[in-house]
Amino acid sequence: MANLLGLDIGGTNIRVGLVTDKGEMLDFYKTRTEAERGVEGVIDRIVDAINVLRSRNPNRQISGIGIGIAGILRPKEGIVCFSPNLPGWKDINLHKILRKRLEIPIWIENDANLIALGEAWLGAGKDIENFILLTLGTGVGGGIVYKGRLFTGETSGAEMGHLKIEPEGELCLCGRRGCLETYASAAWLIRRAEKRLDAGMPSILDRSGLDAKGMFLAARQGDILSEHLFRKAGWALGIAIANLLNILGFTTVIIGGGVSNAWDAFIGTLKYTLMSELLSVFYSEVRVLRSRLGDMAGIFGACYLAKQNLGI
Ligand SMILES: [Zn+2]
Repeated sequence: MANLLGLDIGGTNIRVGLVTDKGEMLDFYKTRTEAERGVEGVIDRIVDAINVLRSRNPNRQISGIGIGIAGILRPKEGIVCFSPNLPGWKDINLHKILRKRLEIPIWIENDANLIALGEAWLGAGKDIENFILLTLGTGVGGGIVYKGRLFTGETSGAEMGHLKIEPEGELCLCGRRGCLETYASAAWLIRRAEKRLDAGMPSILDRSGLDAKGMFLAARQGDILSEHLFRKAGWALGIAIANLLNILGFTTVIIGGGVSNAWDAFIGTLKYTLMSELLSVFYSEVRVLRSRLGDMAGIFGACYLAKQNLGI
């Protein structure tokens, strides 16, 4: 039996799982990223986290390591071009640096892509050859699984959060307007609610301490502002998903991330919009599924990336 390490490098935490090639998690470790320490400081933290799990499990040989990072990557070379969570990281060849320090094969991918791969291995995408995945968190990320493997180009790709929904829409962090993320991410749901509250719209929401969970609970109680914003998110998601399915000819979409806990508040509008926008005749085959692995999906996906590349 082979053992793999999967890492999720976030802006706040580095999380590492020791997982067998059968998908059983044997050990898990979480530590602070300390992103403010810059590139070298974070790389030290990554190596330390890997070594903690290695020293805790001395009898387990590690065959490969998968690493997920938010941002634009060149996965074939293992280069992090840009990461929104890691200040100062620009065109860093993480693969080369880590390989010098660790005698273990390493693969690096975009974090949302690895969430898709994790779901393909052990979650909602198990036994489904082709699907798209959207993860609705602080931002919106995505991944495309094609024939059971990640679909990527020269860069990680699948930047579904920046699909354009409305050309004259809100200005997104990426510098463009009307991206999906400006409707369906936690950060933007909150921002939109604040704007409406400031404009005097009646609501049971409390202006201070707004979060996506509170908005979902308010929507459940019939709060019109919260209901409206989740429906708007569902509408934007429906358009984005229809575009993707129309292009790819896939029939399955999986949705995860913290905002997906508000499922009931957006799924009706999402499905209605999706059905209106789909070109194809395979409506009855289209499935919208919820992710199953929660916040461990990325770690399992990182291990699966290593497993697939090792051919084991
Ligand atoms: Zn954008």
